[in-house]
Amino acid sequence: MKKKIVENAIVAYIHCSTCINDRPSDTSPKDWSRTQFGWTPKGFQIWCNRCEINVGAYDLCGNKIKYDFTLIPDNEKGLISPKK
Ligand SMILES: [Zn+2]
Repeated sequence: MKKKIVENAIVAYIHCSTCINDRPSDTSPKDWSRTQFGWTPKGFQIWCNRCEINVGAYDLCGNKIKYDFTLIPDNEKGLISPKK
């Protein structure tokens, strides 16, 4: 079994509004979703592979971002080497 390193702290999921309503009743949004998340020159984008459409494109307006190491349990922090 793969070791779980980071906790899931997501409070609201983003789904494709075009195909989420086509989801079979016995399929969860998680299992139905076929989205990709990726970085763009300005920020990040969410893309629906099923519909081949943009779900969301976000501009970080030049703000710096950093990885949230607080989500990693203390006993596992030694497994990574963040840049200093
Ligand atoms: Zn879709």
